[in-house]
Amino acid sequence: MRDEFTDPGVGSPTEETVEAGLRPRALAEFVGQRELKEHLGIVLEAARQRGQAVDHLLFAGPPGLGKTTLAGIVATEMGSRLHVTSGPALERAGDLAAILTKLEERDVLFVDEIHRLSRAVEEILYPAMEDFQLDIVVGKGPAASSIRLTMPPFTLVGATTRTGMITGPLRDRFGLVARLDYYEPADLEAIVVRAAGILDVPIEPEGAREIARRARGTPRIANRLLRRVRDYADVRASGTVDLDAARSGLDVFGVDERGLDKVDRALLVALCERFGGGPVGLSTLAIGVA
Ligand code: ADP
Repeated sequence: MRDEFTDPGVGSPTEETVEAGLRPRALAEFVGQRELKEHLGIVLEAARQRGQAVDHLLFAGPPGLGKTTLAGIVATEMGSRLHVTSGPALERAGDLAAILTKLEERDVLFVDEIHRLSRAVEEILYPAMEDFQLDIVVGKGPAASSIRLTMPPFTLVGATTRTGMITGPLRDRFGLVARLDYYEPADLEAIVVRAAGILDVPIEPEGAREIARRARGTPRIANRLLRRVRDYADVRASGTVDLDAARSGLDVFGVDERGLDKVDRALLVALCERFGGGPVGLSTLAIGVA
């Protein structure tokens, strides 16, 4: 798979390039979300057998649960190219048309935050998704005319944190709508152990369990906590992420037993004590803890 969204080879690794390096590439490496994996496995296998593009897929769920990762997996498993963009980046219809005209047969187009697409962009997307037709307006004013291009079959993978904000017509054009749930502690533990292996961090099961327990069901948080505990273990302990290093490291970085950090706790204290348990508007709350 060639992808266009990261170039881990440039400069020193940032948190984002490290995150990209931790992304599972094959469906078999993707931990947890058993039902979703089974459904996706069937859809991919069927498309492969028929030599066709995969049906359009919509992944819904909170941030950090693996939506972008799954889009990459779809492309890898199908041996196709991945193109990455997002709802807010596609301001005008032309922005989307420029991407769509570059697509080759069975390419995967990942649109993050798809609920933030503008109406005009959505209108272009409908015929592209349904009939692989692209309507382009050429010229302006009375002289403007519309030409219709036929596109090669491609797969749109949409991701959203707000399913309720997706319009009915857009939702209906996806062949599979899958929801990602927060991960079970055992799955998060497996994710931490896998990430430690990739990052070459010596880890003990109790250390991995402690990090998983405080990661709020979210792989991105689990991987971030692992990197902070690794820093702590390297500088203040033996270099191995064992139970002691995990506990002390997370305490030093202010991550409590429930995985809440300083800002989370300040928000809860403000909500309970200053605003009498609410209700309180988000901006008032934000000012309250500033
Ligand atoms: P989203 O797009 O939902 O915000 P990402 O796909 O960017 O989430 O995932 C965030 C990080 O969590 C990635 O770097 C990836 O390594 C890790 N991750 C997510 N889901 C899994 C999983 N099921 N197995 C292993 N790692 C995962």
